[in-house]
Amino acid sequence: MTSSFHPPQRTLMGPGPSDVNPRILEAMSRPTIGHLDPLFVQMMDEMKELLQYAFQTQNELTIPVSAPGSAGMETCFVNLVEPGDTVIVCQNGVFGGRMKENVERCGATAVMVEDEWGRACDPQKLEDALKAHPEATTVAFVHAETSTGATTDVKTMCKIAHHHDCLAIVDAVTSLGGTELRVDEWGVDAIYSGTQKCLSCTPGLSPVSFSAAAVERIRNRKTRVQSWFLDLNLVMGYWGSGTKRAYHHTAPINALYALHEALVLLKNEGLEHAWARHASHHRALKAGLEALGLRFVVPEAERLPQLNAVTIPDGVDDAAVRGLLLNDYNLEIGAGLGVMAGKVWRIGLMGYACRKDNVLKCVSALDEVLNRVGASGTQGRAMAATLAAYGD
Ligand SMILES: *Cc1c(COP(=O)(O)O)cnc(C)c1O
Repeated sequence: MTSSFHPPQRTLMGPGPSDVNPRILEAMSRPTIGHLDPLFVQMMDEMKELLQYAFQTQNELTIPVSAPGSAGMETCFVNLVEPGDTVIVCQNGVFGGRMKENVERCGATAVMVEDEWGRACDPQKLEDALKAHPEATTVAFVHAETSTGATTDVKTMCKIAHHHDCLAIVDAVTSLGGTELRVDEWGVDAIYSGTQKCLSCTPGLSPVSFSAAAVERIRNRKTRVQSWFLDLNLVMGYWGSGTKRAYHHTAPINALYALHEALVLLKNEGLEHAWARHASHHRALKAGLEALGLRFVVPEAERLPQLNAVTIPDGVDDAAVRGLLLNDYNLEIGAGLGVMAGKVWRIGLMGYACRKDNVLKCVSALDEVLNRVGASGTQGRAMAATLAAYGD
């Protein structure tokens, strides 16, 4: 007989997925109802309001795309970019590179503005690029670069984009729910996120939000959006309020129950509290990691609390350490991505996983494992530093 799959209970402290709150898993197992059932439609309306809260926006077009964060990214580009357009892409890590791919596949030109991996995007470089390319229509960058743990000043970047009559597309996959993000106040035109990072929901959905200016551009396109599934002109008929819901695709019903529950949890905690929680556990983790002799990739002022990238000490076997953590402690931390592969570990403190017990577990397990692979242990000093940061 073929048997069912029973995954182990891991502690997920990598770049996502993060630990899912049991309340979310429970919500997901509730009975499936029809996606045009009036009660489901009511839940979808509520979900829009909850997403508006999470994004801090009044944008009418605020919905979850029925696919992971990468599809949210693609939704922004295929709808806002037309063949022949010029898009300024600011890149400071892996995900900016994917933006370039998207722009080019839309038949547009990507003008790359490069910053060092591990640093924020430099607003002055964006300003210079916009002056050199008055034909640009759009600016794109990542708020929280998960490959390095660097944050970028969204408000300043959007202001510069608007000053040059461009719309701003922002990747908030890792920032939503973890660090300050204010879509309306900061002037973001199009934003996408994911469910499996700081929302601590199951993977597979991508919350997105579009400003009135972005919607106007989408409505006035000269060419059809090349993707039928992601064409917001069609999706708006499904998610649009007031309109009678037209069938577009079958919503991932139970996955939406899960996102609804995740957003209820966030609303009840309060956004500011969630941001503060990520910052405070980050401070304790930082104290422990530094006591272990691990150095952060990103300078303190540009560092994300929810993604801690640290340099792997010389002579330490990356895969061996992560393997021991996973097999002996059920603890997952992330490997380096792109040019940082083999050079850094990425320790996530996202959503439900961002807790004191996890921080303590991670510091003590790393201390023991580093000792086991031949690096010197700290004889409890790392744990003491972590506890001291908590005030214990
Ligand atoms: C994880 C991530 C994505 C991709 O999201 P998926 O859900 O894996 O498709 C995009 N951008 C950033 C910054 C991410 O961290």
